[in-house]
Amino acid sequence: MSDADQPTETDGEFNPAAPNTGEEFEPVDVFPDSDDFDLRPGSDSCYKCSTCDTNCPVAEVDDEFPGPKFQGPEQWRLKQRDDEHEIDDSVMDCSNCMRCDNACPAGVPLSQMHNTARGEYVSEQMDTWSIEYWRNRILSNYRTSAWLASKLPRLANVVMNFGPARWVMEKTMGVTKEREFPAFATETFREWWARQGGADASRQRARANRERRGEPVDADKKVAYFHGCYSNYNTTEVGKAMVRVFEQFGYEVVVPKQKCSGTPMFANGMLDDARRHAEVNVSSMRDLVDQGYDAIASCTSCSMALRQEYPELFDIPGIDDVAANTFESLEYLRIHEDLRGELAEVEVDGELAEEFAYHAPCHARNQGLERQALELFRDVDGVGIEDVGESCSGISGTYGWKAEKYEKSMEIGEEMFEHMAEAEGETGMTECPTCAMQMEHGTGYDIRHPLELLEAALVDGDGL
Ligand code: SF4
Ligand code: SF4
Repeated sequence: MSDADQPTETDGEFNPAAPNTGEEFEPVDVFPDSDDFDLRPGSDSCYKCSTCDTNCPVAEVDDEFPGPKFQGPEQWRLKQRDDEHEIDDSVMDCSNCMRCDNACPAGVPLSQMHNTARGEYVSEQMDTWSIEYWRNRILSNYRTSAWLASKLPRLANVVMNFGPARWVMEKTMGVTKEREFPAFATETFREWWARQGGADASRQRARANRERRGEPVDADKKVAYFHGCYSNYNTTEVGKAMVRVFEQFGYEVVVPKQKCSGTPMFANGMLDDARRHAEVNVSSMRDLVDQGYDAIASCTSCSMALRQEYPELFDIPGIDDVAANTFESLEYLRIHEDLRGELAEVEVDGELAEEFAYHAPCHARNQGLERQALELFRDVDGVGIEDVGESCSGISGTYGWKAEKYEKSMEIGEEMFEHMAEAEGETGMTECPTCAMQMEHGTGYDIRHPLELLEAALVDGDGL
């Protein structure tokens, strides 16, 4: 019998060998309509090897924490099977270091699953009248506290580190009294930037530097700086170094309107807050990306948020363009400039002629950036740099600030502290401001950002 002779569905008799013309096809609605991202493919990819669990720094020190496999694919499956299934509260013990993402051989989007589950736990199950909720909310909205402190920075520096005040904060809010609060700058980065003349003056300086370098004066070299909260309110020297280094290479810098990257909000399940901030950041950066700017962050957690967490969690117009055009500062210069060539010509002297103990932040590892500072500085005259290993620093943003997590945070950081003590140098280096806090807290070392060393090596002193 030829194909044409075979009966079909339209003959009233079903024949699986009949060609499917599509005319009778009705799509089956396997998943109900939802604004949520579909995590099923990721969940189905998990083959239960447990590599993520063995790479989780929290699971290593906390016997109660069930680990990333449970927090991700397993909870997701339970939730799909029974919509009434409650998210396990242990999801709040994950520090969002994202090491499990890197470890998984099957590419399961674990941190996306954790962030989604944590957001649902906080919005639907957490008691919003509890001290824990408000403590987490205050910690994750650090930008608001820092903005207030920046109005009277000297007073804030005294009050925030005043022993009895710290004791009260621990007893009433659960914010550990063991850590020193980072000092607030007496002038924010944005105030300094305005005092230097902002974008117009940057354009003039960049053009002069292009001319000096023998490059076309009209070259299209322009970047939008995402400074984040710490470089604006605390470590302003990092933001200033970013501007000086990029202008030295002939880049025009703009500093657009921006809010927190959302990193501490993701870690605390405050997804509504994170979305509000992300909308402002994407809207600012999207317009600039349309005009040919690239977005540059000096903090690896901020670049991580803009390029990975935003598109994983939010559907905001322009988000994919912004993500595709966001870079970490050193990463960007290594792509576009002959940094190693220029560094080979110089000798560092002065304050930063040092041996550095370098720690690669977990979020730098996720972006494949863990070797960049080592590769850049290892052959530079006048400085030395040593990797202190692969371990997590343990602070993970707000995690190590919680009184009940402080000891675990220090236990996670122990390996890094030991390797720092064994390293030649007594100055630390990292791209993450909270890892820097933990490094300083655990060793007493001064901690610098790679941009500061680049500035010391390459920027002549007669600029800004
Ligand atoms: S993000 Fe970090 S703490 Fe959380 S489950 Fe993954 S490895 Fe563990
Ligand atoms: S590492 Fe990936 S595949 Fe292995 S158990 Fe974890 S999520 Fe599943």
